[in-house]
Amino acid sequence: MIGRDITSTKTGPLLSALFLFVLVVLAVLAGCGQDKTVWKLTGPTMGTAYHITLVDVPEGVERAELQTAIDAELDAVNQEMSTYIPDSELMRFNRASVGEPVDVSAHLAEVIERSLEIYRNSSGAFDVTVGPLVNLWGFGPDLEPEVIPDAAQIRALREQIGSDALRIDGQQLSRSRPVEIDLSAIAKGHGVDRVADLLVQRGIANFLVEIGGELRTGGVNPSGKTWRIGIERPSAGQVVQQPIQVSDRGVATSGDYRNYYERDGKRYAHIIDPRTGAPVEHRLASVTVIAGTCAEADGYATALNVMGAEAALQLAEELQLAVFLLVKTDSGFEERASSAFQPYLESQGR
Ligand code: AMP
Ligand code: MG
Repeated sequence: MIGRDITSTKTGPLLSALFLFVLVVLAVLAGCGQDKTVWKLTGPTMGTAYHITLVDVPEGVERAELQTAIDAELDAVNQEMSTYIPDSELMRFNRASVGEPVDVSAHLAEVIERSLEIYRNSSGAFDVTVGPLVNLWGFGPDLEPEVIPDAAQIRALREQIGSDALRIDGQQLSRSRPVEIDLSAIAKGHGVDRVADLLVQRGIANFLVEIGGELRTGGVNPSGKTWRIGIERPSAGQVVQQPIQVSDRGVATSGDYRNYYERDGKRYAHIIDPRTGAPVEHRLASVTVIAGTCAEADGYATALNVMGAEAALQLAEELQLAVFLLVKTDSGFEERASSAFQPYLESQGR
C-alpha cells in the first residue's frame, strides 16, 4: 500500500527506512482480568496499518464480512482523499480550472470544512495547501533535497500556498488561486472516524480503532473498563510516558521525532510552518489531542505542533481543547496539559 496512500509522504531511501519504523505513537495498554470476547482485526491502509479491537460483538455480525466492509470503507476514503491515486476526488479537484466549482462527496466536503476551520483557528499554522513546501523540504513525492532550500525558493513557493484561496459551499469546492490540497495531516484521523462510524452502525459499541497511531475508542475495553492508552515517550521506543483513560473520543498525536532528517547537525522535521515556509524549530516533541472526532484531534495535533508549546497551550485554553504536550528539556521531557485534558490523565502506575 505504500505509494498509494494519503499519509505516507516519504520516498527517499533514508526516509523509507524511517517509515518502516512502527508509527504507533499511542499504544494501547492492555487491561488485566479479561473476561469478554475479543476480536482483533488488522490490515494495511494509508501507507501504514489499521489495528482494531472489538469487545463483545453482537450476535449476527460475521467477522470476515465485517473486515471486508472495513477494507471497502478505507478504500473509499482513499478514493476520495488520496494524493497518491491520480483519479481520486481530491486529485481531480487539484487539476480542475481555477475558479471553477467542483462537486465533491459529503465526506470530502466535511474534511475540507474542518481543515479550513482549523486553519482559521490556528491563524494559518495548519494549512492543507502547504504540500509544495513539504515537498521542497523532502517530505513529499520528491527526494530529500541535496542542498537545503534557500530563501528565494521558499519565497517563490510561499506565494503558491494559502487556504484562504479555498472555498467550500455545501458540496462545491473551488479555489481562487492555483493552490493544491494535501490532507496528510487530517485524513488518517478521518479514516479512523469512518471505521468507528461503520462499527456503530452495526451495533458494535465497544471498540478501539487505530490507524498509524491515531485512534478512537468506544464503550469499554476487554476488562469492561474505560480504554487505557499510553502516550509514548519520544525517541525511547515503546516506553509509555503518560497513561490516559478515554472512551468515546478521538485521540491523535503529532510528533517531530519519527519523520525527520539531519544535515550538518541540524534536524529537519516534516512539520512545516506555512508562515515561514520552513520546518518547525522548537522544543515541542509531541502534541496529543483528544476530541469528539479523530479528524479534529488529528488536525489540531498538527496545528499545535506547528505553533510551539506556549502558543499551543494558549489556543488550547481559548478553544477548551484537551491537549497534552511533551517539551524537550536538557534532561528529558517536560509534560504540559491543558485544563480540558486533566480528566483523562491517569496518575497510577507512573
Ligand atoms: P501529522 O503527522 O498528522 O502531524 O501530519 C504531518 C503531515 O502533514 C506532514 O507529513 C505533511 O505532509 C503535512 N503537513 C506538514 N506541515 C503541515 C501544516 N503546517 N499544515 C498541514 N499539513 C502539514
Ligand atoms: Mg495530524
